[in-house]
Amino acid sequence: MKFKYLGTAAAEGIPALFCECEQCKKARALGGKNIRSRTQAIVDNTLLIDWPADAFMHSIIHGIDFTRISSLIITHSHEDHYYPQDFGNRRKWFGRLEDDCPQLTIYGSEDLYDGFALNVEKYQRNFPRDIPNTVNLKTVQPYKTFTADGYDITPLPAYHGTEHPYIYIIEKDGKALLYGHDTDIFFDEVFDFIKESGKKFGLVSLDCTMGDKDFKYHGHMSLSRNAVVKDRLIEMGAADCKTIFVCNHFSHNGERILYDEMSEAAAKYGFIVSYDGMEIEF
Ligand SMILES: [Zn+2]
Ligand SMILES: [Zn+2]
Ligand SMILES: [Zn+2]
Repeated sequence: MKFKYLGTAAAEGIPALFCECEQCKKARALGGKNIRSRTQAIVDNTLLIDWPADAFMHSIIHGIDFTRISSLIITHSHEDHYYPQDFGNRRKWFGRLEDDCPQLTIYGSEDLYDGFALNVEKYQRNFPRDIPNTVNLKTVQPYKTFTADGYDITPLPAYHGTEHPYIYIIEKDGKALLYGHDTDIFFDEVFDFIKESGKKFGLVSLDCTMGDKDFKYHGHMSLSRNAVVKDRLIEMGAADCKTIFVCNHFSHNGERILYDEMSEAAAKYGFIVSYDGMEIEF
């Protein structure tokens, strides 16, 4: 399985859109891996995860033809993961699609409809069924595996600040990955489900919004909380020394979030640090 990070920042991006803090100034000056766009990823150049406003630039920078993507899974309705206004651009005149263009199915919790309602109402006439530019919304249930583009995908409840956020297990050809964004340390029921399922992950990607900072509120993680998740997964046999653990989804509010500093801090916990464009094969 090939996994590619297209965007690796929290909502405000790094450097943040409107920010004069020291970390953002340094990120701006250093460039390279310190520049992080909003969260998106793709599996095998086929299965898309999340759709931020930066999706447009991701398609240009990474050469991804969105007209040929048929499956998109959404973690939750925060705008750095779900910017449904963009799908209005598939309507007539805004997008010109060939007859063989696949329909785009968007999978997620019932929260998908939150941001989409206005779009559907406004562009209803432009989203008829059975034509190439149709966007289908498909509600999927926690703990219930569904199949999309040949991948078995299992949504699990995330510990995060929206109504029904998901983390996802994605499996194909005996390989499995766990995409843990955005979430705090998983609920016990989620750990129990993973343990009982007997799944073993080749890749685990975890929310590290606060970098190397200990903090009090709940809904995100930092390195020390990532380490708790890692230890529990290893303890239950869902991961081992071959599993690649990645910390991802950074905010300028975290500590040591510049790439080199973060890599040094993460290495102590056995994590590698994501960057925009990073590819992992496992
Ligand atoms: Zn986020
Ligand atoms: Zn800043
Ligand atoms: Zn979020």
